[in-house]
Amino acid sequence: MALVALGGTLSFGLMIPVKSNILEKTSSQTIKSESAIAQLGTQKRVEEFKTAMLTTWQQQAKAKGLDYGVPKRFQGVTIEQAKISPGKKVIALTFDDGPWKTYTAQVLDILKKNDVKATFFVVGQMLKIYPDLGKRMVKEGHAIGNHTWNHRYHYFNREAAAFEIDNTSKLIYQVTGARTTLFRPPGGMLHNGLVAYAKSKKYTNVMWSADSIDYKRPPASALVNRVIKQSKPGGIVLMHDGGGNRANTVAALPKMIKEYKKQGYSFVTIPELLEMEHKHQQVMLSKKGTQKTNASKK
Ligand SMILES: [Zn+2]
Repeated sequence: MALVALGGTLSFGLMIPVKSNILEKTSSQTIKSESAIAQLGTQKRVEEFKTAMLTTWQQQAKAKGLDYGVPKRFQGVTIEQAKISPGKKVIALTFDDGPWKTYTAQVLDILKKNDVKATFFVVGQMLKIYPDLGKRMVKEGHAIGNHTWNHRYHYFNREAAAFEIDNTSKLIYQVTGARTTLFRPPGGMLHNGLVAYAKSKKYTNVMWSADSIDYKRPPASALVNRVIKQSKPGGIVLMHDGGGNRANTVAALPKMIKEYKKQGYSFVTIPELLEMEHKHQQVMLSKKGTQKTNASKK
């Protein structure tokens, strides 16, 4: 009975984020014989289970306030790090330019093995090629952000910027069910029209406080040292899981995580980091309020 009830819940959950996908698939497939459909039964149940897990994560994410509906103070602004309560030693690892063949899966494997949650800023045209990697990111508890469709550096008028950013967020939603309000400009370029458009659409423009410069492919140990040296609580670390050969980043990652853990850091996604700053600000504001009240009493 429990299974039947669960099945009911699963198929209900199934209808929400992936409805359009199912309809597309059904209409594009040729009609199969009944025996072929029976053979597909097991595979279908596996797929349903996978989807249900994704839906469950989304519900949990919403319950935790992680559906990327970031606190208002971060909408339409640029952040490089977060101001969090003293004593909270957290860091946010971010990976750009994926999904990418080989490296993204390796990064995801390492994060999973070490129980680390990170944030991936994906390129739309790459997500179109590797949707399963995008699905995996979200399913495994990572946050996903928008890194434009084509990853180009030239000037964008509003229409061109809209193409880059809207299409990428739309695909992220179609593929993963996650609605992102996080943006990171290619090359960190702040003045070529992309950030202006993103901000006008209330995205949080997420820069970084520690740059691995991993695209220059330094040896793993140098990469770890560079990142650790620039790190402080509330910091954001820039790395790449795509855009070229990222073997050194993959090699450095387990060592980096180990070093952070040794120093007492824990890992958060960007939405979690923003939530922490938001809570810290609220505490500070309420303290100020109390001080004012006390002062007026005197
Ligand atoms: Zn990039």
